[in-house]
Amino acid sequence: MATLLQAAPSPALATALTRTTIEDALWSMISTWLDESRDERTCLRVLHQKCLALCTSGLLGKDLAKQQVESLELRLRELLLRGQRLNLQEHMGVSDILLGLRHDLSPALAWEEPQGLPWVCFLGPVEGLESIPDHALASGYRIDIFPDEASLVARTARRTPDLLCLDLSHAFPGPDGSASFLSRLQAGRSHPIPVAFLSDRADLDARLAALRAGGVAFFPSPINVRALTEKLEHLVRRAHQEPFRILIVEDEPISAAFCSRILEAQGMEVVTVTDPLKAMQPLVELRPDLVLMDLHMPGCSGEELASVIRQEDAFVGLPIVYLSAERNREHQLAALNLGAEDFVTKPVSPSHLVSIVTTRVLRGRQLRSLMERDRLTGLLNYASLKEHLRREIGRAERSHAPLTYAMIDLDHFKQVNDAHGHPAGDSVLVNLARLLQRRLRRTDIIGRYGGEEFAVILPETSLEEARGVMEDLRQSFQDLPHLLDGEAVHLTFSCGLAAAEDFSHPMMLIRAADAALYEAKGAGRNRVVCHRAPATPVRLASAQG
Ligand code: GH3
Ligand code: MG
Ligand code: MG
Ligand code: MG
Repeated sequence: MATLLQAAPSPALATALTRTTIEDALWSMISTWLDESRDERTCLRVLHQKCLALCTSGLLGKDLAKQQVESLELRLRELLLRGQRLNLQEHMGVSDILLGLRHDLSPALAWEEPQGLPWVCFLGPVEGLESIPDHALASGYRIDIFPDEASLVARTARRTPDLLCLDLSHAFPGPDGSASFLSRLQAGRSHPIPVAFLSDRADLDARLAALRAGGVAFFPSPINVRALTEKLEHLVRRAHQEPFRILIVEDEPISAAFCSRILEAQGMEVVTVTDPLKAMQPLVELRPDLVLMDLHMPGCSGEELASVIRQEDAFVGLPIVYLSAERNREHQLAALNLGAEDFVTKPVSPSHLVSIVTTRVLRGRQLRSLMERDRLTGLLNYASLKEHLRREIGRAERSHAPLTYAMIDLDHFKQVNDAHGHPAGDSVLVNLARLLQRRLRRTDIIGRYGGEEFAVILPETSLEEARGVMEDLRQSFQDLPHLLDGEAVHLTFSCGLAAAEDFSHPMMLIRAADAALYEAKGAGRNRVVCHRAPATPVRLASAQG
């Protein structure tokens, strides 16, 4: 490795390696300090050795990190030389410095490859950025602020961020006409990183420059963090979504195939129906984001079909776009009056089709998300979770697959609010939400029940399997430190489980899991309890919420 590094240290790679090494060193220091199997003096001595090794390794460069590690080394040396046991304050002091170091050196040090969550990167330093991660966290996405270009390049080599925010100046060519940092960063990527620009200028020239450099958003400074994060939320959710699901209803197979190919080339999932009378079933099964519908079809016109679709409560918000050779604007408008959102004329221009479909799907999803998601954690809210449960129980019954429902409630959560304040409590809720999102499968459905209660639907999972999964999560959560007022606090949750096999009605399943949760609380908290099946299984005719 050493020879490799000497031979060709690309700056980005060297930075990445350095950071991993520092990260390892810091973790090793923290675990030394927390090692209960050794006496305090040994911990102190080993910690000091490690700290000294890091100081003299040349890894730290000249920045703030070096000063901090050096002052820690000095402090440890003082304590060692004094030779007495540390009092509580001194002990906490060392812990604070270690935790503070980790916190300050993030994102480089607290790095784990972002998984699952939408990922936003900032290239700092930008004034007012410090509070962004907290706001963003609260919206359920991962955010990293990179101190320099090299670390950004290194960290984004393997996964493309969903959004990059940086100062507009990074889009300008160098004085010698060399390519801008941004062009270099984007060069060779199959999917360019979506970019939002920050700037201390708000004039039209700056906005135009941002637009020309491919910016999807522009934020003049001083940055209004709330406005920024709200915008981020919108942009990032867009980039991070599941493929668009499109239903095409069109009687001419060639035209249908043509549209379908254009949309599929954009990664959309497309189902085509050539008989309008058969459109209802795929509507229910695919749950499309949008219906692209021919206006003139035998048996049932597009207008008629649109009206029928609109009569179903579940499809009231479903965007419908007509596809037709109709060029008469008045006729088009008349058709639009009957419940469709837009009109695409045949022959279809591919870019026009893609643009209309994309805009309409995003708008539709945005509205749906406002209705379905919890603002704090981004998880499903109670109403939509119940809706999912109803559907999943139905599916499980049809396929004779098991399904387990889990209810989770934080233990003594009120004390967290009382001791550290409501925002700190909120950050704990977000931490738990993120843990659930990270650790559960994509097919598991996670919701926030309200307050400090969460629920998970685990399809194709038996009660025993679910107990294993939740037991692991319980352990992980218990081990997860929450940084509250600069202090690492550990919390626990209790969990109740019930299986659809025993309670096939959604409300009964929920109540059974709730009863198990209550039992877990009564038995001392921080545990997972399964609801025992009643002697005769409680079965109702079908799952109706
Ligand atoms: P137990 O172990 O019995 O569940 O005790 P607990 O303190 O967790 O339960 P309790 O029901 O007494 O208190 C729940 C607390 O959760 C009370 C409320 O202030 C807090 N809470 C509810 N919703 C939120 C929220 O959105 N944010 C924060 N920070 N706190 C919340
Ligand atoms: Mg037709
Ligand atoms: Mg509760
Ligand atoms: Mg509780």
